[in-house]
Amino acid sequence: MPPTAPPTSNTPPGRVALIGAGPGDAELITLKGARLLQKAEVVIYDNLVSDGVLELISPTAERIFVGKMAGQHTMPQEDICQLLVNKALEGKFVVRLKGGDPFVFGRGGEEMDELIAAGVPVEIVPGVTAALGAAASFGFPLTHRDHAQSCVFVTGHLKDHTVDLNWQALAQPNQTIVIYMGITGLDTISNELQAAGLVGDTLAALIYRATWPNQKIHPCTLATLTQTARRHKVRPPALVVIGSVLSLIPKSEGCPAVSWEQLTAFADLHKAPDCP
Ligand code: SAH
Repeated sequence: MPPTAPPTSNTPPGRVALIGAGPGDAELITLKGARLLQKAEVVIYDNLVSDGVLELISPTAERIFVGKMAGQHTMPQEDICQLLVNKALEGKFVVRLKGGDPFVFGRGGEEMDELIAAGVPVEIVPGVTAALGAAASFGFPLTHRDHAQSCVFVTGHLKDHTVDLNWQALAQPNQTIVIYMGITGLDTISNELQAAGLVGDTLAALIYRATWPNQKIHPCTLATLTQTARRHKVRPPALVVIGSVLSLIPKSEGCPAVSWEQLTAFADLHKAPDCP
């Protein structure tokens, strides 16, 4: 049989590793993830994976980009799943490389289901999710005994482009809220959380490309989220963080993007900062 012939039932299936690339900084991928990138025969990746992580891929591996190109759409999820299955059924070791963690808002669960249904062995390698990268990079803890006993990660983007969250549960005191994909729903998020009882001057921040060289944080309040995003033209990928843990951001020269003084002054005075 010629090597280009389609696989038959005699071809043993390859395998797929769904690997978390981390939030951007290439040093934040796990050792296991980096090791498997060296062994991969095919790597399928998208927009949120940084160049530094791509450099870890074996030079002989086939690389397939399935993210959004300028002016074009992302490859539909069904096609990505089919591609993973097809490459694995050719007997290849395939890595599906995803930003952050594959099981946090990454549709990794859907890909895993499809692979299992097709009889392809699949392994999951976790990654540092964006919220953890942002907290470490800008120096705010997600929980703290004096500020937050819980921390929730939610998506601000539903399938039908609406935002429908359990606002009452989110508005609980002493909780840090991290919203992924929330930039287009900021108005709803701000209004609904205030309607559910969270005060408008609760500290908030918009965090763009945490751990990337061009990362930025824009401090604001729950009430000023939309105007802050507009003023600074904040685009995805960005997180919305809400909670008084933000007052703990250190006044550090290592974090030049932040007006730390305003954040800490806000915490002291309990009035809205003049966002930079
Ligand atoms: N699996 C990813 C999340 C994918 S959903 C993870 O675990 O991080 C995509 C959303 O994640 C983006 O719209 C943005 O809200 C967020 N995101 C991913 N990387 C980010 C980063 N470096 N900085 C800020 N937000 C990021």
